[in-house]
Amino acid sequence: MAKYSNKINKIRTFALSLIFVGFIVMYLGIFFRSSALLMTIFMLLGILFIIASTVVYFWIGMLSTKTVQVICPNCGKHTKVLGKVDMCMYCNEPLTLDRSLEGKEFDEKYNKKSRPQ
Ligand SMILES: [Zn+2]
Repeated sequence: MAKYSNKINKIRTFALSLIFVGFIVMYLGIFFRSSALLMTIFMLLGILFIIASTVVYFWIGMLSTKTVQVICPNCGKHTKVLGKVDMCMYCNEPLTLDRSLEGKEFDEKYNKKSRPQ
């Protein structure tokens, strides 16, 4: 059941893990105090990861404007749907915006069939 999850949540988890990786890399730099060059490289790498995560967070902001807010029929909470099919953020109920896909088994492939861009 945990195979699919809400896309926005997935990207958010990715951005958060980038921050953690950034801090870990910077922390590792402390072990190379003896070499100023190595320490600088680690610090810069860490900063790069944190910048990347900021970019991802910015991307989430952009994506959020394209999402459709729906009320989940399963748990009754407001959730965001990105693309044709997505999962509820709270209970992972598969949701679709396409009537023709209603009742069909959930498949992320439906998102790739027709892209409006
Ligand atoms: Zn739900």
